[in-house]
Amino acid sequence: HNSGVIHSGIYYKPGSLKAINCRRGIELLLEFCNHYDISYELCGKVIVATTEKELGTLGMLHERGRENGISGLKMLSAPELQEYEPHAAGLSALYCPETGIIDYLQVCRQLSANIQENGEIAAGAAVVSIEDRPDGITVATETGEYETRFLINCAGLFSDQIAELAGARRQVRIIPFRGEYYMLEEQARHLVKNLIYPVPDPRYPFLGVHFTRTISGGIEAGPNAVLAWAREGYKKTDIDVKEMWDYLSYGG
Ligand SMILES: Cc1cc2nc3c(=O)[nH]c(=O)nc-3n(C[C@H](O)[C@H](O)[C@H](O)COP(=O)(O)OP(=O)(O)OC[C@H]3O[C@@H](n4cnc5c(N)ncnc54)[C@H](O)[C@@H]3O)c2cc1C
Repeated sequence: HNSGVIHSGIYYKPGSLKAINCRRGIELLLEFCNHYDISYELCGKVIVATTEKELGTLGMLHERGRENGISGLKMLSAPELQEYEPHAAGLSALYCPETGIIDYLQVCRQLSANIQENGEIAAGAAVVSIEDRPDGITVATETGEYETRFLINCAGLFSDQIAELAGARRQVRIIPFRGEYYMLEEQARHLVKNLIYPVPDPRYPFLGVHFTRTISGGIEAGPNAVLAWAREGYKKTDIDVKEMWDYLSYGG
């Protein structure tokens, strides 16, 4: 799942790989969308502080955003916030014009078409073993084997297990959290113009519960963060004992 937000990179530590890749990523993504006529809208977002304590973090995000090269950032007073989001209330807010929304399904479909012009996508073919030899790499999947000189691990939630299959020692482990969203009813959609985020709590790696306008016109509210019983546990009843043991036995 993806909410279809084009993130500006405002949260990331200047100079970090996340900051560098996010800024470069936006440039490439917008170039790609313009080239293939994929829908997006740089509608901007507000991050709203509702307590005195959050004002310091909001100022720090303003500074980070500037250092990361985001232009047009603006601190808003409570009345100014009403001009951007009439139904949001807070002590102060940070407006970031470089955040946007996008039809991410269209992006994936186009990427898939481009790949298939010169290659193959083997869907439904989980990687089960990787043999890394000096003369090449053999990747065995459920449906066939592939010989290659290079292998890029982009297995998301399972990237630690794939690294282990390739012979790496796992130094970190993935602990799965499920995020649950509501969709606003049609009569409530006017309450949100664009994107409204809280000031994130620096103790947690989450952005906080936010409102997101999607490119198709809906408004999402969420996510919460629930420790999941399986890495791909999208329902409360999805349980994988082996995967649970993997994170319960991890002291990190
Ligand atoms: C609820 C939610 C909303 C989000 N919204 C946004 C957003 O609005 N904007 C944004 O920029 N980011 C968003 N993100 C983050 C974004 O979705 C992720 O950063 C992104 O999907 C990571 O991409 P990836 O290709 O690294 O991994 P993934 O998208 O997780 O892809 C990994 C792939 O590897 C496959 N795989 C796993 N194991 C194996 C195996 N053994 N063999 C073969 N294949 C395997 C999986 O099936 C999967 O297809 C959101 C994330 C969540 C959870």
